[in-house]
Amino acid sequence: MRPSDLNALFAPVSSLPGVGPRLSKLFARLLGADEENGEALVVDLLWHLPAGLVDRRERPTIDRAVPGTIATLNVVVDRHRPSPPGRSRAPYRVQCHDETGELTLVFFHANAKWIESQLPVGAVRWVSGRLEEFGGALQIVHPDHIVDQDGFARLPLLEPIYAQTAGLGGRTIAKAAAAAIEVVPSVAEWQDPDWLKRNGWTGFKHALETVHRPAEPAEMAEDGPSWKRLAYDELLAGQLALTIVRSRLKRAGGITRTGDGAIRGRIVGALAFSLTMSQMAAVDEILSDLADPTRMLRLLQGDVGSGKTVVGLLAMAAVAESGAQSALMAPTELLARQHFRTIAPLAEAAGLKVAILTGREQGKERAPILAGVADGSTDILVGTHALFQAGVDFSDLGLAVVDEQHRFGVHQRLSLAAKGKAVDMLVMTATPIPRTLLLTHFGDMDVTRLTEKPAGRRPIATRVLPIERLSDVVAAVRRAVDEGAQVYWVCPLVEESEELDVISAEERFAALKPAFGDAVAVIHGRMSGAEKDKVMRRFIEGAVRVLVATTVIEVGVDVPDATVMIIEHAERFGLAQLHQLRGRVGRGQAESSCLLLYKGPLGETGRSRLEIMRETEDGFRIAEEDLRLRGGGEVLGTRQSGMPEFRVVRTGVHLDMLEAARDDARLALERDPRLHGERGKALRTLLYLFRKDAAMRLIEAG
Ligand code: ADP
Ligand code: MG
Repeated sequence: MRPSDLNALFAPVSSLPGVGPRLSKLFARLLGADEENGEALVVDLLWHLPAGLVDRRERPTIDRAVPGTIATLNVVVDRHRPSPPGRSRAPYRVQCHDETGELTLVFFHANAKWIESQLPVGAVRWVSGRLEEFGGALQIVHPDHIVDQDGFARLPLLEPIYAQTAGLGGRTIAKAAAAAIEVVPSVAEWQDPDWLKRNGWTGFKHALETVHRPAEPAEMAEDGPSWKRLAYDELLAGQLALTIVRSRLKRAGGITRTGDGAIRGRIVGALAFSLTMSQMAAVDEILSDLADPTRMLRLLQGDVGSGKTVVGLLAMAAVAESGAQSALMAPTELLARQHFRTIAPLAEAAGLKVAILTGREQGKERAPILAGVADGSTDILVGTHALFQAGVDFSDLGLAVVDEQHRFGVHQRLSLAAKGKAVDMLVMTATPIPRTLLLTHFGDMDVTRLTEKPAGRRPIATRVLPIERLSDVVAAVRRAVDEGAQVYWVCPLVEESEELDVISAEERFAALKPAFGDAVAVIHGRMSGAEKDKVMRRFIEGAVRVLVATTVIEVGVDVPDATVMIIEHAERFGLAQLHQLRGRVGRGQAESSCLLLYKGPLGETGRSRLEIMRETEDGFRIAEEDLRLRGGGEVLGTRQSGMPEFRVVRTGVHLDMLEAARDDARLALERDPRLHGERGKALRTLLYLFRKDAAMRLIEAG
């Protein structure tokens, strides 16, 4: 059970003063909602550390105030000059002075009542904001703060700036964060005292307060002691959780699985291609893992299009030969169905029974599927999250294959493993994860790489064009389609379409409709599974030639005949995502091309990203550049999927502490496997604070 003194931190943000239902929704968007109750929690707000500071400590007299700087001035209000009647565009001005000079406060679209109440004539006020010079006079446009003497006493002269979301301003976040800090209890120290001393770190609560409310700008630096301590806390929590999970999986022991190769032989014989050397080596490694009596925990890494699916299939075939069942779990329904479509004919021709289970198989349909799984007649079950729900009972689950792993959390992996006695795990990912990140996010998994692409792949011609060339692009697509090509047209995700000025997939679809008629279709995440399926099928069959899509097609979709990829607003995507998307073409023998359409002006990062895409198709190089340009979370593609991997750790700054955290975690668990001792109890608190609930459940289950 979670210690009760943490309750205030695990209350929803709406428990904080001034946070009502409307703000609570916005905080859920900002911080990522809690899985159970859909609200962000106070603890999530604590981990939302400031992105910077506004320094308002400069308090000059008016004659010494420097235009262009931020300052806080003590002035007397002299007179109001409202916008002249009928000219509401003209600003509302308030004239002030101190003993050395004059200052004008300027308000556009003014609310006269509010200004009069804040700045009554004759009152003494502290005003803070950016100083400007205008027509020889000193002014502040829309002061950030207008307060009296009491207010000044409470004014944070070093004001933290927080990353915001639409509708939720920095001031509101700062207030809520300050309130959140108030409810942090003092907790027993979980770090080793010598380690703290050696690094010059302070206690947890003090470090947290310092980063949120520094007394000096340097105190909140990412490489300063307070932030570093919190980053180490996060790394330690992560390593503890991974170590716990892994040791439980290993401890459960494995089973020796060997087959005679008969089913595998039939599958390989039926393939339209021969396996690459890399694929054969991967299968061999997996076979020896399966034959080994310890449990397999293997990551199969292979760039997009390297042919991971068939490797997974052969592993499942080997398990079937040994008499056990396999599950193949995909992150989306679209992908699960695609796997089912490719795998089922091959496996069934080789004598295996394959079934699919997603959220869509309900009611009457569901019962026979579950029955086949339970009585062992189904050899391979393909599906989504639905696979690890209650009620799905395998007769003898031997292997879980998890595709595009980074979309799943640790606890989901565990739930699947819990469905069998000693389930072997094969995780497949297209993300070429650098080693350090591998350690942080996956722990000590064994890794197999598919280094080779299937023979006959042609390079993808990639071009970068401004969106102003749209009509040329449409004409080129028209020509390509006339010559028999199939085209993906990707639009960025619609979230806050008005503000972000994103052309949604629907709009693009409508715009292309006159030119392409029934040959164009649209697919996006707001459609039902059945609708998506229908569109996908028509694209695979070739009835649809141009598929307008949101990033739902990002992961894993395989339509070898598609040869043209157009990505609109390419500057809004991360490198890893662009690489994934581009990997949807270039899968067959034909020439493929990719057009990256951008809307200028491009920032420096945007420009280098598009440049890298034009230069290389090497997933590892792209991943490294991605890491360099924006930090680790993006490489794993999790930020977009709303599942932050790190809250405090900044990969460029803190990853050198990873090995220490890993050793620390191992040693702590070796000494006190169930975290019962004094430090163990404190470490439990740490796990809770970083929301490692799955690991906590394991520890408690013993
Ligand atoms: P990914 O690794 O991205 O999941 P897939 O498994 O979807 O890749 O394979 C991509 C495409 O390449 C599929 O159409 C598949 O049939 C094909 N393929 C897989 N292995 C080979 C091979 N050895 N030779 C030729 N084509 C292959
Ligand atoms: Mg795949």
